[in-house]
Amino acid sequence: MTAEQKTTLARFLDITGDFLKDGHARNREAYVFADDEMPPPNAKAQTQTAAENTFSSLPLAYQVDEFEASEPAAETQTLTQAPLEEKTLQEIAADIAACRACALAATRTHAVPGEGAPKPLVLVIGEGPGADEDASGRPFVGRAGQLLDKMLASIGLSREENCYIANVVKCRPPGNRDPKPEETAACFPFLQQQIKTLRPRVILCAGRVAAQNLLKTGKGINALRLTFAEFNNQEEGEDGKVIPVLCTFHPSALLRDESLKRPAWEDLKLLRAHIDSASGGGE
Ligand code: URA
Repeated sequence: MTAEQKTTLARFLDITGDFLKDGHARNREAYVFADDEMPPPNAKAQTQTAAENTFSSLPLAYQVDEFEASEPAAETQTLTQAPLEEKTLQEIAADIAACRACALAATRTHAVPGEGAPKPLVLVIGEGPGADEDASGRPFVGRAGQLLDKMLASIGLSREENCYIANVVKCRPPGNRDPKPEETAACFPFLQQQIKTLRPRVILCAGRVAAQNLLKTGKGINALRLTFAEFNNQEEGEDGKVIPVLCTFHPSALLRDESLKRPAWEDLKLLRAHIDSASGGGE
């Protein structure tokens, strides 16, 4: 359910309650709802009952458990695919610039392949370009990007030296909406190719959309934080090329809600500790 639909429903419920009580509608603060979390990419059809559907589609404020109630279980992927062609970052960027595989190509100013260190310790994956990124062709350059740079700097990381910054979709979804499943599916091979070429020591997913699409799960960000998941490109004959994945809040969420900064700092410290332990102290 979208934030707009929840607002309409909440307004209707409140007005109904007001009239049942004494016939007078009350003035209220603006409703603040978030869009529901997307189902996992390529998720199987869910078998919810009508009653479950009714509850999970109520506005978040009317649900018992705001974040986890409607989440489907994570899926374990067992499929393998033919080996990915080895490409340079420049070749991948050229393929992205020429791509017209989904509708986002028609509205982009620039495709945004990503940027950073060619052999990074950390690959940071965001959701998709916003207006600033679409205008410049560079990832995370707006307010959220500036905060991301500060977050990385706080644990000795930067896109200049030891991080590569990329997104799940390389073209801006109009109006900064979430990318649609067909858009993330069309773009995913580029991310797989980037991971194969970059071989990062660890991946940091910034936000729910990145985490769900990389890990092919419907879990929310709160359930995914604080433990390392694993990603592998699932290519034939590529056993053991598993990359640890840590998930944290998207910097835009921190800009909207200051209280998320402290838990995000815990995530960053965990990331730093992982890098230090995996490298025995040296990078
Ligand atoms: N948000 C993202 O997820 N990615 C960007 O590149 C910019 C903002």
